[in-house]
Amino acid sequence: MLFAAMAFAATSAAALQSEAMLIPVDGITAADLVDSWDKSRAEGRLHRAIDIQAPIGTPVLAAMDGRIEKLFASKRGGLTIYQRSEDGRLMLYYAHLQGYRRGLAEGAVVERGQVIATVGASGNADPAFPHLHFQILETAPGRRWDEGVPVNPYPLFTGRRARR
Ligand SMILES: [Zn+2]
Repeated sequence: MLFAAMAFAATSAAALQSEAMLIPVDGITAADLVDSWDKSRAEGRLHRAIDIQAPIGTPVLAAMDGRIEKLFASKRGGLTIYQRSEDGRLMLYYAHLQGYRRGLAEGAVVERGQVIATVGASGNADPAFPHLHFQILETAPGRRWDEGVPVNPYPLFTGRRARR
């Protein structure tokens, strides 16, 4: 089936780059992560991302080399960042931020591990559960910043098999 073939292609493209990817919250290791794919929290919808719990103000790190594509404030996501990978095929989305790194701007080149923001509870996040909502979208060069197919970050960070 076409859909299945596309899903497979999407998964493998993210997997190919997963070794270049860093868990994007300072001090958090793979053992700290919880698979929150499809677990609804405040979002109240299918959850196509991972929630990484950390105290407000914890540095948020660029998960990989790339470029800041969009700084966006939304009702649900609060303060958010969309970062495109160097090859243009992945869009990384960071949400519920407390704030951006001073001077961070759309178009800025960022390196893996660089501080880009701080963890918060903006948007519809539960203030009692400050966390980084981190999403990986499979996309293509030239596609819009908010387009793409979400891929579960958890198995990419932990080396475990993806939940389907
Ligand atoms: Zn979330």
